[in-house]
Parts: sequence; structure tokens; C-alpha cells
Amino acid sequence: MQRREFISLAGGAALASGAPGAAIAADAGRPRRGYRLIATEEGWLPEAVLAANARYAAAGGAVQVMTRNGPAPKAMVDAVGDIGSARIAAMDRDGIDMQLLLLSSPGVQIFDAAEGSALAREANDELAAAIRRHPTRYAGLAALAPQDPAGAARELQRAINTLGLNGAIINSHTQGEFLSERKYWPIFEALESLDVPLYIHPRDPAASLSGSNVQAVTAAGWAYGIEVGTHLMQLIGAGVFDRFPRLKIVVGHMGEAVPFWLPRIDNRYLTGPRPLQRKPSEYMLGNVWVTTSGMNYEEHLKLTLKVMGPERVLFAVDYPFEDQADAVRLLDSMSLTTAQKKRLCEDNAVRLFRIRG
Ligand code: MN
Repeated sequence: MQRREFISLAGGAALASGAPGAAIAADAGRPRRGYRLIATEEGWLPEAVLAANARYAAAGGAVQVMTRNGPAPKAMVDAVGDIGSARIAAMDRDGIDMQLLLLSSPGVQIFDAAEGSALAREANDELAAAIRRHPTRYAGLAALAPQDPAGAARELQRAINTLGLNGAIINSHTQGEFLSERKYWPIFEALESLDVPLYIHPRDPAASLSGSNVQAVTAAGWAYGIEVGTHLMQLIGAGVFDRFPRLKIVVGHMGEAVPFWLPRIDNRYLTGPRPLQRKPSEYMLGNVWVTTSGMNYEEHLKLTLKVMGPERVLFAVDYPFEDQADAVRLLDSMSLTTAQKKRLCEDNAVRLFRIRG
């Protein structure tokens, strides 16, 4: 009863301000556009990780992490910590039909192998339970602890075959190392044999990428993306896609700047010794998908659609770190056809992440 009142109040407030999400408040979960709006990079953290983060921070850990006592605002921690009805009320208010949930950065990768692996298993069980409770509203990616590559591969198998999750999430580098290091390749082998995608999400980058001058502008606006774009180049350059030709990698922020640079990357590659089986762009257009998380800008989207192809671009918000209502409003305002928006917001996600119809 109280929940219904909250939804109704939120809808009323949105309606008063003219927000486009208002109309769906009464039809929770029902498509209102002729397609489902599926957001594919949506953050969450279980209590166990928030508590482990607090112990890490108390022990003087070098990386800034979210805990119940800051530094992020309480409302944001509450939002990231909930995968129940409060999040669904926010989705109803803002017009999101489904969220694909990902463990927020740096996830389990700052812990030792045993603790990281145990936290990943616990997170995956909790995520699967939330999806069972709300199967039309939530899908999710398995958290993995690359600190134990063989264990991560086993956990991926469990998460896909037993829990029914939709792929995997790794928050970029693990203790300074990229997945291009061969010791991590058992994870790629498992991903390829299960035919599920790996989402490489940003985390705090190396100090050289996010020194004080970058911090003064914005670390998340530059260094996070550059770090993940570099991660992609590491995978291509190490021959990961030659060894695992059916591997599927997803990155956010419209490809972490790589689509913009792609012609030049090919151009410079072709002047060198060419150690790979294919050009860099062929891996980008064969093995990589990109989402619009935090980048709902029409001109950039049109360039990304043109460079990557419309089947490789997926809608995302990055709730609760980005304004969900604003992302939906920007999407609704874009001059794309309904068929283009359906592919961007529903069809590509359904196919790539095997989301139920
Ligand atoms: Mn994110």
C-alpha cells in the first residue's frame, strides 16, 4: 500500500514537471513505446561488499570505495544497495522497463583471491534471487574475481548454468593488471565456450592516467574511459581475439572513445609489422559491443551507430550514478526512428545478453 502511494506520488511529481516518464507510473513494467526500454549498465552492491569496502577503507586501502558511511551521499548508497522494490519504483517513475545489473566498481577486485571469490559468489546468489523475484524487471551479470582465474572460470559456469545470469562483469584492471595477461585467459576460454559476453567496466585508473590535473577536471569523464579503451587495445594487441575468435566484450560510454579513433588506429597499425590476424577495427566490429552509459548525446550516438553498426550499440543509463530520468528524456528527444530505438533499447540487449522475451 505504501509502495503504491510512493509510485503514485513520484509519478505525480514527474507529471507536474512535464517529465516523459510520468505516463508509465500506472503501468509498471508494461512497454509504452512499442518496445521495452532495457538499460544495460546499471550499478548495484550487496551489503556484504559494502561491509567489505568499509573494512578495506578502515585498513587504509588506497582506492576510494563506497560504504554505508560515505564518501558517496547516503541516497546514492541506498540506491546502489537496493535491488528490490525501491529500485523498481525508480524505474517505473523514470520509464525504464528492465535493468541489467552489474556489480559496481571496483567490485571484488581490491580484495585478496579468497575474499574476492567468496564475495563474488555471494553477490551472484543474491543477484539471481532478485531476478527470480522480478524476472521481467531485472537481468544481471556475474561478478568474477580474476585474482583466481581458474576459480573465476568455474564461478562463471555456475552463474550461467545454475543461476541463469546473463554474462559477466569485470571492473577493468585487477591490481594494476589487464586481462591481456595470459594467466587470465581461462576466463576468456569459459566465456567463449558458454557463449556469454564480458562487460569491462571502468574503475579507478592508474595514477598516471588520473593525476591531480585530471582529477581537477573529472576522473570519471576522462581517465576511466581512457583506461578501459586502453584495456581494449591491450586485448587486441595481445592476440586475445585471435586465440578466442568468438569472445564477446562489452564496454560502456559509447566505446570508451575507441570508435572515434578507430580509422586512425587501423591507419597506424597498417604502417607497422602487423602481428595480428586482422586489423584492429575488425576485432572492434566482430567482438565488441558498446553501450551509451552516461553518454546520451545524439550526435555522438549517430557517429557511434555509423562506426560500430546499429547491431553493436545498446542503451544504458548507469543508475544510480547518472540521472535515469534525464537519460530517458534525452533518448526520447533523439531523432531516431522507432525501429532504430527498438534495436538500440531492446533487440540488441535481448540477443547479446539472452534476455527473456
Ligand atoms: Mn557504470
